[in-house]
Order: sequence, then structure tokens, then C-alpha cells
Amino acid sequence: ASVNINEMLELILKRLKPIAEKKNVEVVLESFRPVVAEADEMKLSLAVSNLVENALKYNHENGWVHVSLNADHKYFYVKVADSGIGIPKEDQEHIFERFYRVDKSHSREMGGTGLGLSIVRNAVIMHRGSVKVYSSEGEGTTFTVRIPLIYTGA
Ligand code: ATP
Ligand code: MG
Repeated sequence: ASVNINEMLELILKRLKPIAEKKNVEVVLESFRPVVAEADEMKLSLAVSNLVENALKYNHENGWVHVSLNADHKYFYVKVADSGIGIPKEDQEHIFERFYRVDKSHSREMGGTGLGLSIVRNAVIMHRGSVKVYSSEGEGTTFTVRIPLIYTGA
């Protein structure tokens, strides 16, 4: 079905606002253009929620999260950037695996199952898209998701 991606992102951020406020993390949404895509709204929304939840969870007090939406004639792009703890280079290739959690980043004491990013990966694959991570330890992390505006999936 047709999904208004701008609205979807606004709803997700609205829902996560209390979590951001608890940590005094500033969340900014930058929508560069209106995007309507053929997508599975539930799956896509869950995937982006997981990325933003991580960006808040693995962030510092008074940090920031920057979500942006852009598109060209073929794809739309959702970027979730944070000022958090970052992901060690050696872990970056594993984080999309089910149950994988970075040990060092005190994710142990923070709780979680390690399923969030596998849900992201599955939703992205289902939409014939791709997801990439850029991160450096102690500086922050950026996830970029690219999804075709029209997909011929399930
Ligand atoms: P769940 O999402 O199931 O509650 P989780 O957050 O531990 O648990 P994932 O979302 O799959 O699981 O993330 C896997 C691991 O990747 C996390 O445990 C964490 O170590 C690391 N990680 C994910 N996102 C970030 C981020 N934005 N900044 C730093 N580390 C991250
Ligand atoms: Mg998570």
C-alpha cells in the first residue's frame, strides 16, 4: 500500500519522545522532500523504530539524534545518526545477526535481546532495499537505509 513516509517518521518520533526526554537527547527530523512509497507500513515502521530506539539507548545524556529523509527518482533514504557510544569496527559486520550484542558497550547492563537490528535487516531485504552502518567508537553511529519507492514484494 502507499505509505506517507514523512508522516510515518513523525509518528515514530512522537512515540519515542518520552524516552528521548528522559535522557535529554535532542531529536531532530529533517525531511528534505515529501515521500510516498509502496511499502509495508507496519514492517517499515517497526524497522525505523528499532533504529531510533537504538540511537537513544546507546546515547549519552544530553546527546542528539538526527533523522533525515530524502529521495531521488528511484529510492528513498532514511538516515538515523546519533552522538552515542559508537560500535567497534570488529563488531560492525555482526550487529545485524540475531541475538548479537556488543559486549564492551555495556549493552549487557542495558538490557535487550539483540533482535532489533535483525528485524531491521529483514524488513529492508523484504523491501528490496539495503542498510549500512557507519560508526566510530566514542563518537557516534549512522545507519542509512535505502528503499525503492516502488517494490514488488510480498
Ligand atoms: P533489542 O533491540 O532486541 O532490544 P539490542 O538493542 O541489544 O536489543 P540490536 O538493536 O539488534 O539489539 O543491536 C545489536 C547491538 O548493536 C546492540 O546490543 C549494541 O551493542 C549495538 N548497537 C546497535 N545500535 C547501536 C547504536 N546506535 N550505537 C551503538 N551501538 C549500537
Ligand atoms: Mg535495539
